[in-house]
Amino acid sequence: MLQPIAIPVLQDNYIWLIRQADNKAVIAVDPGTSAELLQYLAENDLHLTQILITHQHGDHIDGLETLIKHWPQVEVLVPALPFHGEKLAGTACHGGESFSFLNKVRVSVLAVPGHTLNHLAYLLTDASGQNILCCGDTLFSAGCGRIFEGTAAQMYDSLQKINNLPAETVICPTHEYTLSNLNFARVVEPDNQNIIKQMDIVTALRAQNLPSLPVTLAAERSYNPFLRCENSALQQRWQQSSGLNLFSFLRNWKNNF
Ligand SMILES: [Zn+2]
Repeated sequence: MLQPIAIPVLQDNYIWLIRQADNKAVIAVDPGTSAELLQYLAENDLHLTQILITHQHGDHIDGLETLIKHWPQVEVLVPALPFHGEKLAGTACHGGESFSFLNKVRVSVLAVPGHTLNHLAYLLTDASGQNILCCGDTLFSAGCGRIFEGTAAQMYDSLQKINNLPAETVICPTHEYTLSNLNFARVVEPDNQNIIKQMDIVTALRAQNLPSLPVTLAAERSYNPFLRCENSALQQRWQQSSGLNLFSFLRNWKNNF
């Protein structure tokens, strides 16, 4: 059984820690800082064996150097082809690679360009078939990342790749943007009751300062407009002739929402 734990850091980031029952070894994803993570590891007597990096933005990597100093044996997976001249220490991945970490946990690397050109997502699958996707700034709950380096078509393909994973896949994005994303979703699809229900759930969680994440892909399909672009009623409503056109329209609109 895999257990994703969200450690809140910076303004609205989460470092995801992937634990496995009866295993003191853990995987961390996108350490934008190190202090909170080191404290959690010490308090729970855990040791860090792998770090997965989805992309090279500072709020996803700035804790890396300190963590490697603390855990010199840690294995790090990073995106290949770093941009802006940055070189990250670790095993460079392009997407398509597969690793075995923890106790028989397969880590499959997916190329999901759009937010950055070399953005990666990591699909973790344990021996029972349980799936967890760590997707960085590609898919958020009820929303998706901004397109900084890629094209709308690349980002759309990346989201479709995620959308094609099994429905029960547990999604772990890096940011707590859910409420503002749901506010946008409600304007896009005012009649969708799933959006209203999810707003009530997330509002209650956030009032207690609890994360709205993780979420399942099945739930996201029911209220995330960026995963619903193939819906013909939604295309008609916004007078868009294809899923990609609707996606581009919604992404541009959200940039200024
Ligand atoms: Zn980013």
